[in-house]
Amino acid sequence: MPDDYYQVLGVSRDCSQTEIKQAYRRLARRYHPDVCREDGAEDRFKAISNAYATLSDAQKRQRYDMYGENGSNGAAGRPADIFDIFNQVFGGMGGPFGAQAQNRGADLQYEVTLDLQGVVDGFEAELSVQRQTECEQCGGSGAAPGSSPITCVMCAGRGVVAQERATLLGVMTTTSTCPRCHGRGVVIADPCPGCSGRGVTRTSEEVLVTIPPGIEDGQRIRMAGHGDVPAGGGIPGDLLIRVRVQRHPDFVRRERDLLMNLDISFVQAALGDTVTVPTLGGEKEITIQPGAQSGDLVELDGLGLPPLHGGRRGRQIVNLRVVTPTDLDDDQRALLMQFGLQRGEDVRPPEHRGLFDRLRRVLGGEA
Ligand SMILES: [Zn+2]
Ligand SMILES: [Zn+2]
Repeated sequence: MPDDYYQVLGVSRDCSQTEIKQAYRRLARRYHPDVCREDGAEDRFKAISNAYATLSDAQKRQRYDMYGENGSNGAAGRPADIFDIFNQVFGGMGGPFGAQAQNRGADLQYEVTLDLQGVVDGFEAELSVQRQTECEQCGGSGAAPGSSPITCVMCAGRGVVAQERATLLGVMTTTSTCPRCHGRGVVIADPCPGCSGRGVTRTSEEVLVTIPPGIEDGQRIRMAGHGDVPAGGGIPGDLLIRVRVQRHPDFVRRERDLLMNLDISFVQAALGDTVTVPTLGGEKEITIQPGAQSGDLVELDGLGLPPLHGGRRGRQIVNLRVVTPTDLDDDQRALLMQFGLQRGEDVRPPEHRGLFDRLRRVLGGEA
């Protein structure tokens, strides 16, 4: 890491030891690999730790000022130590992330819509996400270029203030977020023009969202760390994507199966037929068996949907519905009456009595 140690910590060369510790505390909390998911966070954490290891030691700092990195005999390349440093600095503060727990960026909610074909194949969507990120002009410090944040005098940079209260049990100490610096430990005298001193700006970011096959309507995909970066550093929120599966005009989804209704005539039902039905893979022929009834199911294996974590696709289930004709003309009525009489049915339709009486006489039902 060739960067200047002072630059790594974002402090001036004549800063105090307190400021160095402050800068380390702020940056280390932010880039600790346990909490930071940004690319290069671990390298940055190492660089911060190495810079701090040298500059926090008065003798090493002096050698570094005179001879540079080699002269300082610094902690470079000893990754095991960086967590020791971290624990030393944060030890006794109630845990490194204790005060930081509330400083987590907001989650962002977005929605992606796909159709059933997308459920079969999986789906990729490019989302334009409005996201709060570290200000590029000031690197998140909130201070105008050329200036730096000043340690908060109210909390001495701790971000929290202790209050003592006399109670029956003795003096109780409670801590709360510092009202002057709002927990940041520093105050900005000369605010960065890019972010008005907040240290963060809202920008548009293209995010590629991959939706796995088998996803269901209403399910959420969580992209950890892709939400807002909080002002003052901390844990970024998550990006939550709610998946919407469009209704299909023909199919209703039941887990892995796709259900559809198919209307057939009573002639098709009685005699059987071969018909085409829509499927997600194009039209397919199905056979209606002679004597089919309403509610009979024809199943097409492997034409349903895949399960979410891989596996065989479900079925397409065709529910047959026998439709009674309502638009018969006189010839068709006569044929049906003839059919009924031939099967020995004594049908007495309420309408068209003249026609049926004639038929009965002709066909010998009644003399
Ligand atoms: Zn800024
Ligand atoms: Zn403060």
